[in-house]
Amino acid sequence: MSFRIGMGYDIHRLVEGRPLILGGIAIPFSRGLLGHSDGDAVLHAVTDAILGGAALPDIGELFPDDDPSWEGADSGRLLGLAMEKVAEAGYRVRNVDINVLAERPKLSPFKEAIRDRVASLLRVPPVDVSIKAKTRERLDAVGRGEAIEVHCVALLMEESKS
Ligand code: MG
Repeated sequence: MSFRIGMGYDIHRLVEGRPLILGGIAIPFSRGLLGHSDGDAVLHAVTDAILGGAALPDIGELFPDDDPSWEGADSGRLLGLAMEKVAEAGYRVRNVDINVLAERPKLSPFKEAIRDRVASLLRVPPVDVSIKAKTRERLDAVGRGEAIEVHCVALLMEESKS
């Protein structure tokens, strides 16, 4: 049995006039994440982690931000396409661990919904998705509430060919 590990990272600026979407879930807040797609930094970090585990081109190469077809895109679609590429490479997801760094809003009421959504996109049970919500202790741009940053580690396992 062959395992491979991948890491993903993303950061998006919080701006007024955008909905806040994290892990595919709309979260009530006064600002949202700026981006060419829906700005979902959680799904972008997860996407890069699984692509990285399979040593495939990264999210920016697969879905360039100057390509109009991804404008305003649901990042779940991007992750779905990345999942297809990972499957073609012969791997499936074993588990992921995600750190979300946000000063505000408080994410604890939404963690279960995000976990369920990420799990369904990755076709794993929720027990194989971990989401930790942290702050930056008011340090730097994330700590001043100007951005949300996400880190993800993903373990891939070789798809059995039975
Ligand atoms: Mg991004």
